[in-house]
Amino acid sequence: MVRMTEVKRTQLSHLTAQLDDLRQRGTYFKLRVLEDEQGPVCTYDGRRVINLASNNYLGLCDHPKLREAAISATENYGVGSGAVRTIAGTMRIHMELEEKIAAFKGVEACVVFQSGFAANAGTVSSILGKEDFIISDELNHASIIDGARLSRAKIKVFRHKDVAHAEELLKEVASEPGRKLLITDGVFSMDGDIGPVDRLCELADRYGAIMMVDDAHASGVLGRNGRGSVDHFGCTDRVDVQVGTLSKAIGALGGYVCGSRDLIDYLYHRARPFLFSTSHPPSVAATCIAAFELLEREPERIERLWGNARYFKEQLAAAGFDVGGRTTPASETPITPVIVGDGRRTMEFSRELFEAGVMATGIAFPTVPEGKARVRTIMTSEHTREQIDQALETLTTVARRMGIL
Ligand code: PMP
Repeated sequence: MVRMTEVKRTQLSHLTAQLDDLRQRGTYFKLRVLEDEQGPVCTYDGRRVINLASNNYLGLCDHPKLREAAISATENYGVGSGAVRTIAGTMRIHMELEEKIAAFKGVEACVVFQSGFAANAGTVSSILGKEDFIISDELNHASIIDGARLSRAKIKVFRHKDVAHAEELLKEVASEPGRKLLITDGVFSMDGDIGPVDRLCELADRYGAIMMVDDAHASGVLGRNGRGSVDHFGCTDRVDVQVGTLSKAIGALGGYVCGSRDLIDYLYHRARPFLFSTSHPPSVAATCIAAFELLEREPERIERLWGNARYFKEQLAAAGFDVGGRTTPASETPITPVIVGDGRRTMEFSRELFEAGVMATGIAFPTVPEGKARVRTIMTSEHTREQIDQALETLTTVARRMGIL
């Protein structure tokens, strides 16, 4: 008699084979476990490390005001919303957060999703259909790619930040009756470069395309008080759909879409993560409201972030690291890649750095192109100059020892 567990194992043997393949390539990973609060120095797997890996750009994951807001919302409204938004799960505090974000961004309306991923995938998949076209940067986030596939629209991919190529693709489909969506990340998460939002807006105007920007890494980082790349380029009136995340600089969890009242109403009725997945606990909404208040009140956090980012980037380049710019785009934001090339060596570099007290994530194919594996570093406003110098020294020492420098 065959036992159930054996049957299951056999049915999933293709997964085991793929995991073995990852081990062979040296890109298999184990999850590192954070044992205290997210911060510039914290404890992963029992080791105290300088943290260059988190998206906690403004140190808000552990801000006392945000903690307070979460605790008080929990005391007042409990821990869960109890339903999806359209059934019974829309709480007053969800509406307050959406109003807060819309006012902050200077747009008519906003809808919050459970994550930035859900915001992108839910929006792209619901505003287009199979007669339509998506013109998308080759390095756009996975959630845009998945949303595009779910929409069943025809997908045309332009070379990274190549506006002329985007125009060629728009020209190719100009006479087709379907709608066209032109879409870019505001900040690209692997290289830290900024999308050409203003020039793409010109194209969208010229070709009558819907313009959409995913500002996950620009929210709280670029623009006035962290309003994002669209604000940075002065394009608020020209971008139809602005996506942002509440999971990075804002310090909590969630994603949002900003735009016209009709766009948001439509998403209420058609976006599947909104319709079929339970809304945030009230504590998350309260946390985010407190975070936006902080952005308005304490822009100096963003200035500190940029000061740290500039210093760290300059020092990395001065030490001789390949931080992109020759064959890969140059970082223009607090994300700076340290390019190693080979996937296995990159993962080794990341492990050695960890042993030496620096947490910097190794990223290899297929997340980045073959031969462009890197450890990705991210500065925050909360890193002190001593921590940054210590991290630089460790990066240099380990890289020299491994022959990377
Ligand atoms: N877009 C980009 C460019 C991202 O880097 C991410 C996060 N990795 C997301 C969207 C998704 O955001 P979230 O983590 O809130 O789901």
